[in-house]
Amino acid sequence: MSNVDATEIDKFSELAHRWWDPNSEFKPLHDINPLRLDWIDGHAGLDGKQAIDVGCGGGILSESMADKGAEVTGIDMGEKALKVARLHLLESGRQVTYRHVAAEDMAAENPAGFDVVTCMEMLEHVPSPASIVAACAQLAKPGGWVFFSTLNRNLKSYAFAVLGAEYLLKMLPKGTHDYAKFIQPAELAAFARGSGLEVVDLIGMTYNPLTKTYALEKDTGVNYLLACRKPATD
Ligand code: SAH
Repeated sequence: MSNVDATEIDKFSELAHRWWDPNSEFKPLHDINPLRLDWIDGHAGLDGKQAIDVGCGGGILSESMADKGAEVTGIDMGEKALKVARLHLLESGRQVTYRHVAAEDMAAENPAGFDVVTCMEMLEHVPSPASIVAACAQLAKPGGWVFFSTLNRNLKSYAFAVLGAEYLLKMLPKGTHDYAKFIQPAELAAFARGSGLEVVDLIGMTYNPLTKTYALEKDTGVNYLLACRKPATD
């Protein structure tokens, strides 16, 4: 049984060649990257750490974590995204190891293998997010950090993330997001706790369409990030 939705992978594959174009469909990921990177680095201290980026896509976050001094592995089930990610390393001169492997298989292969696990903007594209969360928990070392980001599920997130971003502002292609797959923070926190993680921080990410800027704020109504820790064993 695979926890992969082929139509979701195809959707990202079709756009994959534009992954590093900051004015493409991936513009939002480029724009939010400094914010999430600093937030992750602030919690976990990336320098010298072993990190894995689950659902890494073209490697926007993976490369930036490598830039902060982490030894980064990026995994994704989209072959095209990984091809683009590997090609981009030639241009950037950074080092990231990319692998086409499912999170669950990687976790079985490398239990407790990483200090930092990131899984950003990916849970809302998979059949079983709980299974990905469990795999991320398994990948973390005791005392290690696990970070998630996804979309909340409520009237506001439907209005902003689907109607606003896809139809009104046309920031994303129509059909990018399926409202039914959005995850409420309490649901994600429950998946995390159910996988043995402690929830450390929850923060919202907001978009101001007038200034076209993003910010980390208290308001978790649309986009949000969750920081978790695997308890240290001693
Ligand atoms: N995490 C990256 C990319 C987000 S786009 C970032 O935030 O910059 C979502 C990514 O999830 C795509 O690259 C897509 O191929 C990947 N994806 C979707 N379903 C997946 C699955 N079941 N396993 C691994 N990756 C998946």
